[in-house]
Amino acid sequence: MSLDNLYQEIIVDHYQNPRNFGELKDADFVVEDDNPSCGDEITIYGKLSGDRLEKLQFTGNGCAISMASASLMSDILVGKKISEIRQIIGLFSEMIKGEIEVDSEVEEKLGELIALKGVVKFPIRVKCATLAWKTLEKALESKKSG
Ligand code: ZN
Repeated sequence: MSLDNLYQEIIVDHYQNPRNFGELKDADFVVEDDNPSCGDEITIYGKLSGDRLEKLQFTGNGCAISMASASLMSDILVGKKISEIRQIIGLFSEMIKGEIEVDSEVEEKLGELIALKGVVKFPIRVKCATLAWKTLEKALESKKSG
């Protein structure tokens, strides 16, 4: 199997079997956003425990890239410290925009998220891939004091 096929399979898997999908009843924050150019909609639910993101869930609908990206994001960020999350958000955004070289160090930090790096070749899809991330970032900004 080629690497591209492997990446494709990860995206399809997360689209068809999204992780952490569903409303979070005891959420500390709920933020929604959309991507009108594609019709993607997302709502992010988070529960904090000190400086950690204890739970991260989402609902919404949209294209495979937007939903797979949200699922992969929730998978990798849940349980992490807010400071680590900010780092990963920055790194992911740079990868998607083609601003960094994806070396082994980046691969290690981003894990399965690397599956989305092909999006850089499709500028119109960048907004799909970053929708969940921008929405979460917005939630974290408003939580800065805590
Ligand atoms: Zn989309």
